[in-house]
Amino acid sequence: MSDDADAAPAYPPAHRLARRVLIVGGVAGGASCAARLRRLDESVEIAIFDRGSYVAFANCGLPYYVGDVIADERTLLVASPELFRERFNIEVHTNTDVIGIDRAARTIAVRDLRTGKSRTERYDALVLSPGSAPIRPQLPGVDLPGVFAVRNIPDSRRIRAWVADRHASTAVVVGGGFIGLEMVENLMHRGLSVTVMEKLSQVMPPLDPEIAIPLAEHLSAKGVRLHLDDGLARIDGGADGRLLVVAESGACVRADLVILAIGVRPETDLAKAAGLQLGTRGGIVVDAQMRTADPHIWAVGDVVEVADVVTGQETVLPLAGPANRQGRVAAESIAGRATQFRGIQATAVVGVLGLTVASTGASEKGLRRAGVTSFEKVYLHPGHHAAYYPGARPIHLKILFSVPDGRILGAQAIGMEGVEKRIDVIATAIQFRGTVHDLAEAELCYAPQFGAAKDPVNLAGMLAENVLNGDMPVADWLALDRTDALLVDVREPDEFAAGHIPNAINVPLSQMRDRHGELPKDREIWTCCGVGQRAYFATRFLMQHGYRSRNLSGGYTTYRAFSAVGRKP
Ligand code: FAD
Repeated sequence: MSDDADAAPAYPPAHRLARRVLIVGGVAGGASCAARLRRLDESVEIAIFDRGSYVAFANCGLPYYVGDVIADERTLLVASPELFRERFNIEVHTNTDVIGIDRAARTIAVRDLRTGKSRTERYDALVLSPGSAPIRPQLPGVDLPGVFAVRNIPDSRRIRAWVADRHASTAVVVGGGFIGLEMVENLMHRGLSVTVMEKLSQVMPPLDPEIAIPLAEHLSAKGVRLHLDDGLARIDGGADGRLLVVAESGACVRADLVILAIGVRPETDLAKAAGLQLGTRGGIVVDAQMRTADPHIWAVGDVVEVADVVTGQETVLPLAGPANRQGRVAAESIAGRATQFRGIQATAVVGVLGLTVASTGASEKGLRRAGVTSFEKVYLHPGHHAAYYPGARPIHLKILFSVPDGRILGAQAIGMEGVEKRIDVIATAIQFRGTVHDLAEAELCYAPQFGAAKDPVNLAGMLAENVLNGDMPVADWLALDRTDALLVDVREPDEFAAGHIPNAINVPLSQMRDRHGELPKDREIWTCCGVGQRAYFATRFLMQHGYRSRNLSGGYTTYRAFSAVGRKP
C-alpha cells in the first residue's frame, strides 16, 4: 500500500451509506457536486434546490449577455432540470428556497416560491452551495429603478430591457473590480458611455497599484471616465427618469442606469442559523474534504473559507474554478473517497476593451498584509512573441518570489496578447510549489508567432535567479526618493531626452566601456533603461569593474507606472 493510501482518512460508514443527498444551490458548486456524485454512485438519491428559476447557468457569461455579445439567453443554460433528471436521475427543484436546517432531525425546510407552501425534506448528506450575493450598500437611492446588480439571468434580462426601453446612453458602474470592468466593456458594446466610480485609488483592487496603472490608462484612452478615490454616497432620482449618482466628495454624474459591482458577500444565513461555524473572513469553516464540523453537512463555493496556498491564511474567493473543484471534492467525500481540496491561489483573469489582466498567487500588498517580508520582485516587459515576428505586443509582468529559496509567491501581468498563458504557467508552478529556477528551466512552446526561445516565463525566472544569486541586485523603487545612489540612465541620448527619472545622468550602455571612469566607486549606482535589460547589462559590467551597482527592475516603463501611483506598494 502506498504512503498516500496509508494517510487517507478512514470514512465513517454513515457517509458511504448516505442514501439521500440534498444540495442547496444548483449552479457552479452545487451542479458540479451533483453530477460528480451521480457518476460515482448510481444508488444514491440526489436532489438540488435553487431559489432561482434556473440551475447550472453560466454566471460568468452574464455581462456578455447584457452586452449582446451572447445574444441568445438559452446558450447560458449549461444544463436544464430535464437534463439533470433524464441523464443523471437527479431531481431539481427550482423556485424553491431552502429556509432552514434542522441538524438534529437531519431535515431542511423548503418553501416553494410559486405556491408559497413549505415542506421538509430529509437528508443523509447535505451540501451547501448557496454562493454569494452582490453587496448593496445601505445608501440612499440604491433601490431606485435603474440601479442594478448582476448575479443571475433575470438580473441581466432586466438590464438589457432597461437599456433598450429607455434608449439608455450613459451608465455609472460603481466598483472597478472584475465584474464592474466586464460590465463596462459590455455596456460600451451596447453604445453607452460609462463612468466607473471606485472608492479606492485604483481599478482592479486585487492587483498591485503599479500594475493597475496601464489598465486605468487604457480605460481612459478608450473613453471610460474613471472616478477613482471616491466612493458612492447616494443616488438621486430625477423628474426626467434619469439618475444622479453622488460621490462622497460631492461630485455628481448623471446616468440612465447604475450597476452596483462593489463586491459580494457569502450567503451564510442558513449556515449561521443552523449553528455551523463561520470563520474570521465570514465564510463557512470546512475541512479539506469540504465537510463542516457537522459530519452530515458539506459546503462549497463562494460561501466557504479555504486556505490560501501561498500565505497559508484562510480566505474567501468568489471564483468559478474553485467552486467547481470543491463541488467535485465534496461529491468524492460523500462517496467515501479521500480526495482533498488543495486550497486556493486566486488565479484570475479579466479582459476589458482589448486588454487582458491576469494574476495568480499573492500580490505585494497581500504579502505585506500577511506579514511576509522575505521576498523580492522583478518587473519585465517582454513581447508576447519573438520581437522579429510582426505584431509582438508587450506583456507587463511582475513576479514575486521568496528569498532565499526562490519559491514563487505570485505574479501579475497585463497586455494585449499572451497574458493569461503566462499566468497559467506560473499558476501551475505555484501549485507544485515551484521556484523561479523551475520557471527559468520551463520548456514551453516556441515558434516565432507564439512565443520566444526565452519565453517571458523563462525570462521572469532567469531575472529572479539573477537577483537571488547576486548577479543582478535590484534597487527598490519605493526607495527612489530617499536614496543617495547615483541614478544612471543607460539608454541612448534621444531616449533619455524624451523622458527620464529626475536627477538621473545619462551614460549610454554603448559608451559605458569608454566612460565608466566618470562614475564614482564610493557611491552605489542604480542603473535604469527602458525595460530593464540594458540596465542589467550595465549592472553586470559595472559590478565586474568594481562598482556597487543595482538595477531599477522594469526600467523607465515601470518608473512611469510608479510615478502615477505615488510609489506606494
Ligand atoms: P453560485 O454559482 O452563485 O450558485 C448559488 C445558487 O444558490 C444560486 O443560484 C442561488 O440562487 C442559490 N441559493 C442561494 N441560497 C439559496 C437558498 N437558501 N435556497 C435555495 N437556493 C439558494 N468567476 C470566475 O472564475 N470567472 C469569471 O469570469 C466570473 N465571472 C462572473 C461574472 C458574474 C456576473 C458573476 C455574478 C460571477 C462571476 N464569477 C466568475 C464568479 C462565479 O460565478 C462564482 O464564484 C461561482 O458561481 C460560485 O459558485 P457557487 O456554487 O458558490 O454559487
